[in-house]
Amino acid sequence: MSQPEDAEARRAVQPVICYPNETLPVPELALYAKAREGAEKVDEALISARNAGCFRAKAGQFFRISSVDGPQVGDLNLWNANDLNERFYSGKSRALHGTHLTTGERMWSSFPYLRPMATITEDTLGWYGMDQYGGSVHDVIGTRCDPYTGNLLSGSQYHHCCHSNLTRALADELGVSLAEAEPHVHDVLNVFMCTGFTRDTGQYFMKASPVRPGDYLEFFAEIDVLGALSACPGGDCSAEHSSDTAACYPLLVEVFAPQEGALGDWQSPPVNGYDRSHGR
Ligand SMILES: [Zn+2]
Repeated sequence: MSQPEDAEARRAVQPVICYPNETLPVPELALYAKAREGAEKVDEALISARNAGCFRAKAGQFFRISSVDGPQVGDLNLWNANDLNERFYSGKSRALHGTHLTTGERMWSSFPYLRPMATITEDTLGWYGMDQYGGSVHDVIGTRCDPYTGNLLSGSQYHHCCHSNLTRALADELGVSLAEAEPHVHDVLNVFMCTGFTRDTGQYFMKASPVRPGDYLEFFAEIDVLGALSACPGGDCSAEHSSDTAACYPLLVEVFAPQEGALGDWQSPPVNGYDRSHGR
């Protein structure tokens, strides 16, 4: 293929950040940390391997996802507990914060709501940073493992991908059919998963998660949330997913409620302020 004469000059143009995030509302991490000190556990759910389960946290409560027994990756969906139309928007969270999330960053909701649903307050894998392959932890670049892609690539019929696990869990939680639940399942936050893009071909890669039992990711619920978490059939995602061959372990979800008044005059964030007239 021929190149224009100024090809190198065009490639040498400096990139600019798409969404400079200096004007993003800053979470009140010090207030959250103080409220967390006196918080008490009010609920927990143990998510079994190659399965998913739901949990709920009210606005102002905390939820923690912990590794237990062995290295395991989790696929997290989040909805407004009072309106399932408002759900986690992986792509916009990626555009605002980058490919992987950590402490102080947020799970943002879909249009037209676009507000923080949950803020990461603790990440015991925050030390990992970005490795030599461009890999990091807790990505918002993958989607979720699903039976459709497996069927497309290899003609398989596998039923314990995260997409199916999340669909079953949500159907059971809401008392609706699988067909009704499935459209609510969306792109996930890949908790504990270590991923990136190859530098040469730009392909999505995964590698063994650095997570170990005792590690956790903790969130402050900015609104009432319904969560669904799948313990991915990929286990630590060191080799493959979408099969029963990987070693898989449970994940623990715990919900903590601060003491009355511990959050002072903190208020749940309002929905986005755009007037929705779209130029008409
Ligand atoms: Zn998965």
